[in-house]
Amino acid sequence: MKIPICDLCAKSNALCSGCEERLKEGRLSELDVTISRLLQKLSDTYNLQGADFYKAVDLDRLVIVLTKGDVGVLIGREGKVVSEISTAVGKKVRIAEVSGDMHKTVSDIVVPARLLGINTVFGDGKQKYRVRLAKNEIRQLPADAKTLEKALGQLFESDVLISFE
Ligand SMILES: [Zn+2]
Repeated sequence: MKIPICDLCAKSNALCSGCEERLKEGRLSELDVTISRLLQKLSDTYNLQGADFYKAVDLDRLVIVLTKGDVGVLIGREGKVVSEISTAVGKKVRIAEVSGDMHKTVSDIVVPARLLGINTVFGDGKQKYRVRLAKNEIRQLPADAKTLEKALGQLFESDVLISFE
């Protein structure tokens, strides 16, 4: 099983200096830690050997759990694993695959709304991403634009601007 914190931290209630540092830098979130520890616990009951938990995206009402592996493993038989995660975080949970393909990852997050495109823009001497969505699909988005900008920004460790066309 792959999780974003080390084994030691997954099995205890404290964080080692390495994981603590990543949490402070924002490369790891409290939610990532919570879900990692939960999966560690669930691995006693469920077959999570092939699980590959990359990161959680918190969209307020919904949490998207990103995996670099097989989506089915984190869903579990009859959806049991995903429902355990949902109970633990107190929100609806969707499992999505993350790959090196940013377009595909963002598409999977904003579904059922469509992603029109992603542009790289420069501002304040920094590279940012502009995620273009359809104005008439705003209500199909899993979260409001602000929440999405923040969540995608954390995920891609870069500033993300959402624009509607
Ligand atoms: Zn650690």
